Amino acid sequence: MNLNEYRRRPTCEVRIGSTTIGGDRPVAVQSMTNTDTNDTEASTAQILAIARAGAPIVRLTAQGRREGENLAAIARRVREEGCRAALVADIHFVPEVAAVAARYVDKVRINPGNYRNDHGEFEALVEQCRARGVALRIGVNHGSLSKRIFDRYGDTPEGMVASAMEFLGICRDRNFDQVVVSMKSSNTRVMVAAYRLLAEAMEREGMRYPIHLGVTEAGNGLEGRVKSAVGIGALLADGIGDTIRVSLTEAPENEVPVAQLLVSHFAARPGRFEVLHPERYSPTRYRRRTAVQVPVVRGERADGFRTIEARSDNPTAELRAAILSLDRADEPVIVSRRYDCPSLEELAVRAAADLGVLFLDGLADGILLDAPGHTDAELREVELMILQAARVRFSRTEYIACPSCGRTLYDIEATLAAIKARTSHLRNLRIGVMGCIVNGPGEMADADYGYVGAAPGRITLYKGREVIVRNIPQEEALDRLVELIRANGDWTDPE
Ligand code: SF4
Repeated sequence: MNLNEYRRRPTCEVRIGSTTIGGDRPVAVQSMTNTDTNDTEASTAQILAIARAGAPIVRLTAQGRREGENLAAIARRVREEGCRAALVADIHFVPEVAAVAARYVDKVRINPGNYRNDHGEFEALVEQCRARGVALRIGVNHGSLSKRIFDRYGDTPEGMVASAMEFLGICRDRNFDQVVVSMKSSNTRVMVAAYRLLAEAMEREGMRYPIHLGVTEAGNGLEGRVKSAVGIGALLADGIGDTIRVSLTEAPENEVPVAQLLVSHFAARPGRFEVLHPERYSPTRYRRRTAVQVPVVRGERADGFRTIEARSDNPTAELRAAILSLDRADEPVIVSRRYDCPSLEELAVRAAADLGVLFLDGLADGILLDAPGHTDAELREVELMILQAARVRFSRTEYIACPSCGRTLYDIEATLAAIKARTSHLRNLRIGVMGCIVNGPGEMADADYGYVGAAPGRITLYKGREVIVRNIPQEEALDRLVELIRANGDWTDPE
């Protein structure tokens, strides 16, 4: 393999207000407000903060007609402040609001899962966007496919791709090319499989629409950053992606430097980025290359494993090629890479972006980071986080926490911290912490338990996809969640 030939997936350019993405443009960073879209001053202040942090594209939720109409006031205030950031309306569940929002913003994101079968409403939106020079995003989410698609494909990457291709086909038939597409999931394996399949499906159809990457509900702190870097990095390493959002359950401006780090990490990397493993795309067909069931981290016994250290500027392609050319195809491999980063966060993001995909693809069996200035304990934690984010080894509770937006019904950062304090010692559990009942249940599709905002000050608790208690006061909700986990035999006391 020639490691010095860089090739990003070719795309057409899409103009989003003052920003253009796709083509030869650098990958653009974006973020999303979590203020109430009816609150013009708070939303304006947050857009300015996100733009100051360096994101040229900012999205706001518009859950109803009132919020859609208030985008006019927000756009006016943002421009009065001299900010030229492109504004995007996020429409979910009420597709009619897209037509309202498209009068005021630079781009509208719709979820094809929300449209009825006749497509007339979407076609009218396409024409409205064309007339005003507004871009569109076909934003498919795992967990919110239409019933028709779900009945045929289930909640699968293939279903996500079918949903997107149907709406992209309408845009193409109408000769509208200002379209971006996304395939988000909180499950990195589903997300990576869906985007790779989408890139292939578009290639077959000769479609060159730019792709927006993101892992939804990644959580917060180092774990949230590592999870995003594993999913987004896997795709950037394949040459897929024209704009990215790192979703964190933190202040939205915190997302920007992480996304910028990912963009610069891959922009600086030479190498040929190709999708080489079509047989590994689907989570339902996932298989590991060796008999190793639990990949190892530093300090663990690994008899008979070969360690391969990446030395080039394109570690992902180098390690992938080395593993695939082993004499013994099932020889277990520990992948290793040196990082000279004084910041643990930067090291974690870079390592997750380089190495996570080798686990997602079932190729590697162990990880060994070499990073002077960091302790063995710190590096072991990062190694375990990468394996967990790639879903090959679960060593801690996983929180599928939404980044919050204008729909959020409670203080999600403080609540997530409180839930973590009580439950982080539990292993092999996934807990969804979602701000609203509208999107939350669908987007935490993989969670074992769910804590979801039902109304202001009210929480609904889930076991899997089943509602267990509805609308309880938030003050009781954490204790009731612990009771629920205990009643189902998933509780262990902290050591
Ligand atoms: S789940 Fe969270 S981020 Fe998604 S719409 Fe609801 S509050 Fe907003």
